[in-house]
Amino acid sequence: MTKAEKEEQKQMTARLEELAQLADSERRIKRRAKEKRLKKDGGVDSYSAGDYAGMTCDNYMFYYGYEHTLCPAHGYDEACGCDESEWCFVASERDTGDEICRMPSSDLVVDGRDGDIRHALLRGIGRFINEWLVGRMMA
Ligand SMILES: [Zn+2]
Repeated sequence: MTKAEKEEQKQMTARLEELAQLADSERRIKRRAKEKRLKKDGGVDSYSAGDYAGMTCDNYMFYYGYEHTLCPAHGYDEACGCDESEWCFVASERDTGDEICRMPSSDLVVDGRDGDIRHALLRGIGRFINEWLVGRMMA
């Protein structure tokens, strides 16, 4: 190995260590933010309006409302906007945003758009617990 190559390797090693330290400090910042959040609101965030409601706890996000729909004609198209589309309850992972399950209002046995939005959210969370969480514990 030439002197120049050795120097380059040394610089690469230093740079990698620097990156590892950055990743470590980012993890610490995230952990501190989580601890702060837990202290403030018990780790639960909830919100509602006329056409949506949601709740976040642990690594789960729950939502019911107009932003997520299911349509027999257009499937999961969020923006089809036709009369057939139903508002949905969606459970997803907070970290990744990955969807875990989606249920249309007809499955929740609620009156989709005119009914009580928070009621629909509660029913969705109940179904999520029954069918997904409990199912996973029994597996
Ligand atoms: Zn449609």
